[in-house]
Amino acid sequence: MTKILDRLGSPELDWIQVEVTSRCNAACSYCPQPLLYKKEHMPLELFKNLIPFLGYTNLVYLQGWGEPLLNPDLFAMIRLCKEKGKRVGFTTNGMLLNKKTVLKLVDLETDIISVSLAGITPETHNRIRKGTDFTKVIENLELLQRIKLQKRTPFPDLHFAYLMLVSNLHELKGAVEMCKRLGAKQIVCSNLTFIIDEALCPEAFFVREEERKRFTSVLDEIAEEARRENLLFAFPNPVPQKQPANCSENICSSCVVSVTGEVSPCVFTSPTLLQADSLTRCKPLSHIYQNIFVPCYPLSFGNITNESLTGIWNKKKYQRFRKIHDPDATIPDTGRMSLPQSCASCYKKEA
Ligand code: SF4
Repeated sequence: MTKILDRLGSPELDWIQVEVTSRCNAACSYCPQPLLYKKEHMPLELFKNLIPFLGYTNLVYLQGWGEPLLNPDLFAMIRLCKEKGKRVGFTTNGMLLNKKTVLKLVDLETDIISVSLAGITPETHNRIRKGTDFTKVIENLELLQRIKLQKRTPFPDLHFAYLMLVSNLHELKGAVEMCKRLGAKQIVCSNLTFIIDEALCPEAFFVREEERKRFTSVLDEIAEEARRENLLFAFPNPVPQKQPANCSENICSSCVVSVTGEVSPCVFTSPTLLQADSLTRCKPLSHIYQNIFVPCYPLSFGNITNESLTGIWNKKKYQRFRKIHDPDATIPDTGRMSLPQSCASCYKKEA
């Protein structure tokens, strides 16, 4: 039965991102997770609804607005994906990578573990990524490296996800050396594009255009060093350009499944982004876009609780949404004008 379902039009996706939890053991200064109305784990039974529809999907990325290692079913989820021959990865703050956990992840042949960083010294990283401890994270990654060596396995690949801020860019210079030491394969940098606090505006590169040249030359230098070390170093333009309103995310070949099973194009449209409100119990979270607070506009095209992922992906309204953002699609200008509210106030469409 599973094989038949696989063949029946499973979307050909680069990846499916699954929010396995919206709980976290940290409280990073830039992250909306502490404000979330609902903090919960995705039940294993709900996750299983996805399995028949992973047919042509390359990678399953177990990540949303939370720390994946908190979900006790994470290992079972990884196993299910591996049994289907899928590549599996997730991003973590690295605090829970103890020996027992690392051994399980290695034995399951987890493909990717990406560790979030906001500096490469305890002072900087711990100040921004509150509730985490840089020294502990590095110790855990050294343990991972030792266990991989003992077991003579390449699994998992270690990646770093570095959030670039005005106050931590200088430390990024040391990241190539750190990657070499820990056996990491890549560093992917990101801008602060989802700003929940006015105090963070001066930290976001794109609001300080005069700094652009300096940031870009630092990044070019690091990219050159990474190339010499055969390390993948990816970074967006620190000052996004004004461009046509296509999304810079890979939304035409990927989707996000929220902790409650809602299917959205990206994490910024996820219905998880709700906060407590004394009158209505919950309301969409707000973020700052071009100096003013705007609400998030949750966007779900269906729920895997009662619909197939293939069916949701092929819905007309979801197809239309993708077409709006597809740079290769030939649609009239009027189509581009009807940008959903969620995207109209998103920096990702201008990067
Ligand atoms: S423009 Fe922003 S909100 Fe719209 S799909 Fe892309 S990342 Fe999501």
